Amino acid sequence: MPSSSSTDSALNPEAPAPEGSAPAAPASAKAEAKAETKAETKADPKPAPKAPARRGWPGVGPQLADRLARLDIFCPADLVLHLPLRYEDETRLTPLVDARPGQSVVCEVEVLSCEVQQRPRRQLVARAADQGGEITLRFVNFYPGQQKQLAPGARLRVFGEVRHGFFGLEMIHPRLKPVHQGDALPASLTPVYPTTAGLAQSALRKLTLRALAHVSVSEDLPETLRTRLGLPTLKDALHLLHAPPPEYRAIDLEDRQHPAWQRIKLDELLAQQISLRRAYAARRILNAPALPLKNTLTQALLAQLPFALTGAQRRAWGEIAHDVGSPHPMQRLLQGDVGSGKTCVAALAMLQAAEHGRQAVLMAPTEILAEQHYRKLATWLEPLGLEVAWLSGSRRKKAREETLGRLARGELLLAVGTHALIEDPVTLPLLAVAVVDEQHRFGVRQRLALREKGGRGESPHMLMMSATPIPRTLAMSYYADLDVSVLDELPPGRTPIVTKLVADGRRDEVIERVRQACLTGRQAYWVCPLIEESETLQLQTAQETFEMLSAALPDLRVGLVHGRLRNEEKSTTMGAFISGELQVLVATTVIEVGVDVPNASLMVIEHAERFGLAQLHQLRGRVGRGVHESVCILIFSQPLSQTGRERLKAIYEHTDGFVIAREDLRIRGPGEFIGARQSGVPLLRYADLDADAVLVDLARDAAETLLQHKPRAADAVTERWFGGKAALLKA
Ligand code: ADP
Ligand code: MG
Repeated sequence: MPSSSSTDSALNPEAPAPEGSAPAAPASAKAEAKAETKAETKADPKPAPKAPARRGWPGVGPQLADRLARLDIFCPADLVLHLPLRYEDETRLTPLVDARPGQSVVCEVEVLSCEVQQRPRRQLVARAADQGGEITLRFVNFYPGQQKQLAPGARLRVFGEVRHGFFGLEMIHPRLKPVHQGDALPASLTPVYPTTAGLAQSALRKLTLRALAHVSVSEDLPETLRTRLGLPTLKDALHLLHAPPPEYRAIDLEDRQHPAWQRIKLDELLAQQISLRRAYAARRILNAPALPLKNTLTQALLAQLPFALTGAQRRAWGEIAHDVGSPHPMQRLLQGDVGSGKTCVAALAMLQAAEHGRQAVLMAPTEILAEQHYRKLATWLEPLGLEVAWLSGSRRKKAREETLGRLARGELLLAVGTHALIEDPVTLPLLAVAVVDEQHRFGVRQRLALREKGGRGESPHMLMMSATPIPRTLAMSYYADLDVSVLDELPPGRTPIVTKLVADGRRDEVIERVRQACLTGRQAYWVCPLIEESETLQLQTAQETFEMLSAALPDLRVGLVHGRLRNEEKSTTMGAFISGELQVLVATTVIEVGVDVPNASLMVIEHAERFGLAQLHQLRGRVGRGVHESVCILIFSQPLSQTGRERLKAIYEHTDGFVIAREDLRIRGPGEFIGARQSGVPLLRYADLDADAVLVDLARDAAETLLQHKPRAADAVTERWFGGKAALLKA
């Protein structure tokens, strides 16, 4: 296990982390999640609509309920499905003389001394011993309670990973348990659960055992299948994993291949397959306008675009055109790496509606991005005699009302906007095609609201676009019932982006490079460090960076955009950068998505180690959009954490968004995948669509059987896994 300080709390889930301190999740994931919610669009305010009191939960107060909710646990039944990550073997004591660095062990010791040291940082340090040896116990975050437990003379069982310390063996943040000599050791393995700040393992264990005793777990797998596969009942499987019998060792259970695990995974996959089928059936009975391609406006656009479509764009457009031509609502995800040209595919889909005199809208998550789309569509479509409406929070009331009126009367067919598009007064009686760009930035509810804008009992065809590539299998488990088109080819003539890693001591050289690039007519972005702890500090840093660069580059025109500027200010600055009036744009991550200025060929990212991998990829994708050779300079500061280093290595080595997404998953695990929380759609928690492909096939067949013959059992399975979220799977 890495020993950087950021992982200390992960080593010791028992320690009740202080409020506001880093939770056990890796800092990177947290940064990512924060950045997500900072998107200008107000993401769904309520994360998951699962009613907390789904089945009532006596004995769990509001604070505890809050913490459990962070783990997506809302009732005892949820807790029963919250399975151990791993197990600790506390069944044997290890004498200190036998403890080896790197091992996780339990030792029984007596405290010799204990003191709070102030250097090199404030920490609690105790010395303790058993008959044969001594050990140092070290706590960087500590509580009066712990200090009391560590009083000299106290007898304790300490559980933790042994390391080489300055004074011989040591443990950082060991788990402590006061004991009396001769107290019995636990007979079986101790489960370790995924948890969150302020929720101790011991509390989680107690609650889980109680839930396990009270929740009745139905057996819904067809009996013939279960016996044929030699799997335990779900109830037995759950009992075994939460409270393994004494004969089990950690190694038997941790690779998750044990029949008990197979049974759990099969149940989860079954729930998924049932939901998929139901969502599909539900969509098939909805009506959508069938608008076959007329090739009038669409051909006119193609004729006037300054480029030919790539093969991938052609293919994706063909798939979309087919869907829009059919009488059931399209539900398609257009995935394409940054710069792959999704916008013009979206424009073609919108024109297919306009060809029939129907309405189409494009919704983007930020003002900057929406406005850019608006400008681009207007340039493309006004020559065809089509007016494009622009709806955003920043438009003046009068202009806005006029536009709304014309949309409501069906006089305007095309509109681009932010979430202002889905607000109440907006009516789109002829809506037939709705495009959502950077769709993972929107909550499920917002997508639903857009769908409901269609009039006359029809659902519009939905096209969701994402430059954050989600591996196909993951996409399927995210969005039930979603067709996927992939742009796996970049437009020709792009020169690959060269990525450079530079230590922050060499910032002057980087500034010089910016000067050089701008003097040859190019433009540059300078992205300010992400400061997740404080938005104020973040803005201050952006301001200082702006001043520093303005001073260092007196011969260049430097601009600044950040999230706190008023929309008009943002729009003016972006406009000045697009027109080339500004040469250097200092920015926070507001420019992360979608911004398209082909003449910008240099991207500098400060404190690159603080950004998530997907974010770095998005930011880098702002350059390399024109014919000029582009460079992305990642300035980093030492010391780097393990994940920080891995991320920089991945972004340095790879340019393919899909590969990067895979690396991202590997580095931080699927649980934290971008937008998972926001989308409100459950990921598979235990099964893996690739690794458990055999189970997926079995689940598919079993789902069919249950839906036909035992719909009640099918309900029980989806309720168990998705609860109140099942409805959202359709969004
Ligand atoms: P993204 O998929 O990241 O949204 P965009 O739609 O912004 O990409 O397209 C990136 C740039 O490539 C734009 O300037 C766009 O006009 C241009 N582009 C799109 N398709 C092609 C093509 N087939 N050939 C050349 N340039 C293209
Ligand atoms: Mg885009």
